Amino acid sequence: MRILIAEDDIISRKMLGRALVRMGHEVISAEDGVEAERILQKEQLSLVIADWEMPNMDGVELVRRIRASEEERYVYVILLTSRTGKEDMVSGLKSGADDYITKPFDSDELMVRIRAGERIIRLQEELAERNVQLEEMALVDGLTSVANRRAFDTEFKKLRFHSTRFKRPFSLLMLDIDHFKLYNDNLGHEAGDEALRSVAQTLVENVRTSDTVFRYGGEEFVVLLPETALEGANLVANKLCHTIEISGISHPGNPPYGVVTVSAGVGSFDPSEAGSDQAVLGQADQALYRAKANGRNRVETQLDLSNSAAR
Ligand code: GH3
Ligand code: MG
Ligand code: MG
Ligand code: MG
Repeated sequence: MRILIAEDDIISRKMLGRALVRMGHEVISAEDGVEAERILQKEQLSLVIADWEMPNMDGVELVRRIRASEEERYVYVILLTSRTGKEDMVSGLKSGADDYITKPFDSDELMVRIRAGERIIRLQEELAERNVQLEEMALVDGLTSVANRRAFDTEFKKLRFHSTRFKRPFSLLMLDIDHFKLYNDNLGHEAGDEALRSVAQTLVENVRTSDTVFRYGGEEFVVLLPETALEGANLVANKLCHTIEISGISHPGNPPYGVVTVSAGVGSFDPSEAGSDQAVLGQADQALYRAKANGRNRVETQLDLSNSAAR
């Protein structure tokens, strides 16, 4: 481990440093609390041995400042003191120190106290890592590995905020697999799951990296397209529909195609019009409904594009 020693007494600092190096640690030294704090802001250190009495900033104040800082990583602090009274020990630990060692220190005691600190630091790191994994898992759909509904809610909000704030267009596609109940009925639920994974994969592979695919519900997907107006989004939706059809996943219950197809609805936010950013989801949903009603395996948009071109 890399350990920071904050100690104004040069002899004590050297002895402590030597003992730690002998135990296999790397040592960084500071002559007072101010210097120690400066080093901690620059370097990723997890263990500090701080002398209680130091000029400029003492050990107890250093601990208080470490605990008050926003830093996410846990810094384990051992207070070094020649005070041996119980009350001193209590007030030292109260400041937020994890442990203390009395001066002159005993090497064996130092070693076991460092080891105890190491265990805590290790656990802390594992916990932080696990938290990152959990946060990721909470945003990813377990079946298809694309972003989930919860991620959509957050991303949609962010995109709406950005687009209205900077007056930029964005679009939203809602795609739903055609007659998917029949797919399950004919081929079984497991084959259904496999088809869902495959469709999700095809969607991800055929949009830009700045676009995001979400599993919105059972066999419904949403794609968010930042910086994309209605015409562009319509092209993307048609390309996705076509690509899924020609990927050729057999679906006997979906005549006349005989393969898995999707229907899609497009909604767009146009900053130059009065339309609301929030309405885009509902527009895409209504357009999807029309795509289903008009025969499936097709795209409909919030407004009739042939009409808008004629305007
Ligand atoms: P439509 O063309 O009108 O969309 O018909 P549909 O059969 O796809 O629509 P409906 O909403 O009636 O049925 C959706 C079906 O999707 C119901 C369910 O069997 C299937 N489904 C939803 N989620 C999953 C899933 O996670 N795995 C599997 N295998 N099937 C799912
Ligand atoms: Mg001192
Ligand atoms: Mg559906
Ligand atoms: Mg469906």
